Amino acid sequence: MSDVIQLLPDAIANQIAAGEVVQRPASVVKELLENAIDAGGTLISIVVKDSGKGLVQVIDNGRGMSSSDARMCFERHATSKIRQTEDIYNIHTLGFRGEALASIAAVAQVELTTRREEDELATRIVVEGSEFKQTEPATGPVGTNICVKNLFYNIPARRSFLKSNSVEVRHIMDEFYRVVLARPDLGFRFFQSDKLVYDLPAGSLPTRIGDLFTSAYSSQLLPCEEETDHVRITGLIGKPEFHKRTRGEQFFFVNQRYIKSNYLHHAVMSAYEAMLPDGSFPFYTLFLEVDPQHIDVNVHPTKTEIKFSDERTIYAIVRAAVKRSLGKNLVSPVFDEENHFAIFSSTEPSPPEEKTTTTIPSRLNQKEYQALPSAEITRRANLEHWESLYRSGDEKSHFDFPKDPTEENQEATAPVTLQSVVNRTSERGEMFLESEQKAASDAPFQIHHTYIAVHVKSGIMLVDQQAAHERILFEQYSLALEKKSAVSQQSLFPQTIQVSSTDLALLQELDEEIRAMGFVFTIAGDRTLVVQGVPPDVKTGTEQEVLEGIIEQYKSNQERLTLSKRDNMARSIARRMAMKAGQRLSEAEMRALIDRLFGCIQPDYAPDGRKTTYVLELGKIATFFTNT
Ligand code: ADP
Ligand code: MG
Repeated sequence: MSDVIQLLPDAIANQIAAGEVVQRPASVVKELLENAIDAGGTLISIVVKDSGKGLVQVIDNGRGMSSSDARMCFERHATSKIRQTEDIYNIHTLGFRGEALASIAAVAQVELTTRREEDELATRIVVEGSEFKQTEPATGPVGTNICVKNLFYNIPARRSFLKSNSVEVRHIMDEFYRVVLARPDLGFRFFQSDKLVYDLPAGSLPTRIGDLFTSAYSSQLLPCEEETDHVRITGLIGKPEFHKRTRGEQFFFVNQRYIKSNYLHHAVMSAYEAMLPDGSFPFYTLFLEVDPQHIDVNVHPTKTEIKFSDERTIYAIVRAAVKRSLGKNLVSPVFDEENHFAIFSSTEPSPPEEKTTTTIPSRLNQKEYQALPSAEITRRANLEHWESLYRSGDEKSHFDFPKDPTEENQEATAPVTLQSVVNRTSERGEMFLESEQKAASDAPFQIHHTYIAVHVKSGIMLVDQQAAHERILFEQYSLALEKKSAVSQQSLFPQTIQVSSTDLALLQELDEEIRAMGFVFTIAGDRTLVVQGVPPDVKTGTEQEVLEGIIEQYKSNQERLTLSKRDNMARSIARRMAMKAGQRLSEAEMRALIDRLFGCIQPDYAPDGRKTTYVLELGKIATFFTNT
C-alpha cells in the first residue's frame, strides 16, 4: 500500500489554525486592535457593520509596514515581535505568535492599506481565503487601514454558528472595553454602521471610565495602589455600595493585557468580604505590572489566560491592596444583611411573624389613605392582608395568595389550599396530609432557611424554597408573556437608569417581551432608560437591580442554552426574582409557597430541571434506625 500521509496545503492549514484564533467577529476586533497598539498607534478607529459579520475595520496612525512586510504579515508564524525562543519570556507587545492575520485572511476577505513614514506610497493588498488577489501601490496616510469583510464567507458552517446580532455585538463590545480600558493613554473611536458610538480621547483612567460608562462612575471609585518587589498594582475599584448585579465590569490587566482570572477575582471578592450583598459584584479595573519573566501568556492562542510563576503571592498582594484601599476610605457595610424577601408583592420587608397581629393598623379613611406615600399604602395593604391570612389561617387553613398578575386568565391558580394540593399530589404519589392540619405539629417549618419541611401522610415532604419559587414565577411570567397580560405597578417616581450600549441594544431587541412582563420604560437618549412601571413583585428602589439582573441572566442563558426569547425571558425573571436559600419565611409564607407550587402546571421541577420537592418516606426513615 502506498503512503497516505500528506502535508496539508497552506490555505487549509490556515483555515484549521484559524479555528483557534478566530471564533467570531469579536476575535477579529481584538487581534486588529492589538496590532494597531503594537504598531504604536495613538489614535485608533474601529468600524463595525452588520455586527462584525459584514465588516470589521481598524485604522491606526502607527508605524505602518513596508510593501514586503505587508505581504509577509499574512504568512503563518510571520511576526516582527519575537525572533528567538527566549523572547517569549520577555514580551512587551500584545501579539507575538504571528498567526492572527494569517488566520483571519484564511476565513475572510481582507483589504490592507499601509504606509510607513519614510515611504512615499502606501501598499494595498487584497487577500481572500489565503489567496492574494491584488498587491499594488496606493495612496494613503501613514499607518495601517485594514478591512475584514464577510467573516467565514468560505466556511458556511462556521458562519451559521455565529449567534444573533446582539450576542455578537456584545462580544465585540467586551473586547473593545478591555482594550480601551487597558490603554487610556491612547485615543479610540468606535463606529457602528457609520454612527460614532464612542469617541474616547487619550487621557487618564478615571476620564476613560467616565467616557466609557457614564460620568456617574467617577464619584464611586477609589484608587488602589500597591508596590512590592513582585508586582506593582494600580487602578480603581468601586465603592462597595456601587455594586452591580451584573458581571462584566471587572477588569484585570497584566502588563496592559486584559486577562481572565477567577483566582484573582476571588482575591478581590474576598477583600470586599461582607461589604457586598450576595450575588453582586464590585466594579474594578486593576493593572498589574509584573516582570514578563515571571508570567507565561502563551497558555492559549487568545492569550487571555496567564500563568504567574508565583500565583499565591500575587493573590495575597491583590487582596491586601484592595482591602487597604477600602479601609483607607473608611467604608463600612451599607446594605441590609437580612435583605428580607417578601413573597407577597410588597415594597417593604414583610413584618416579623410574631408582631403581626399587634401591629395591624386601624383602617384609615379615604383621605388619610391618599395622603400616604405609595410605599406606605402598599405596606398597610400588606399588613391588612397579613391579618386576613392569620385569621383565615386559623379557621380554614386557606391562604389566599396576593393578586397574581395573570390570575384572571388562569383557572388553575384559583386559590389552592394545602389540602387540595396534597389531594392532587396523592393521585401521583401515595401521600396524604393528615386531615387535622390545625395541630401545631403539622405546621410547615424551615430547615436552615433553605428547605421547607411539611408533614404528609407517607412521611415528610421537603421543598427546596428557591427552586419552588422559581417554578411559580416561571409559570406566572410565561403566561403573562403569552397573553401579554402582565400587570404593571406604576412608579410614583420614575427611575432613571444607565445601561451599557450593548444592554440597551438587547433591551430594544426584547422590547415586546419586557413590556409583556410588566416593565414600562422609555429610552431617554444615550444609554439612559426611564423606568415608569415594574411588575408588582419588584420592590421599589430595586428596579435597576432587577432589570439588570434579568438582562444578565438572559445573556447567560443565551450563551448556554437554545431557548425562545419568551422562554428565556420567563426563566430569567424567575431566576432573578425568586427568593434565595437562606431566606427566612413565616409559616404563612411557607404555606402560600406550597399552595402556589402545587397550583403550577409542572410543580415537580424548577425551570432548569432541578427537583422542587422530595418526599422522605416513613419507611425510609425507619431504616435509619434499624440494626443491620
Ligand atoms: P503578531 O501580532 O502575533 O505578530 P499578526 O498576525 O497579528 O501577528 O501580525 C503579523 C505582523 O504584521 C506583526 O508582527 C506586525 O509586524 C505586522 N502588523 C500587523 N498589524 C499591523 C499594523 N496595524 N501596523 C503595523 N504592522 C502591523
Ligand atoms: Mg497580532
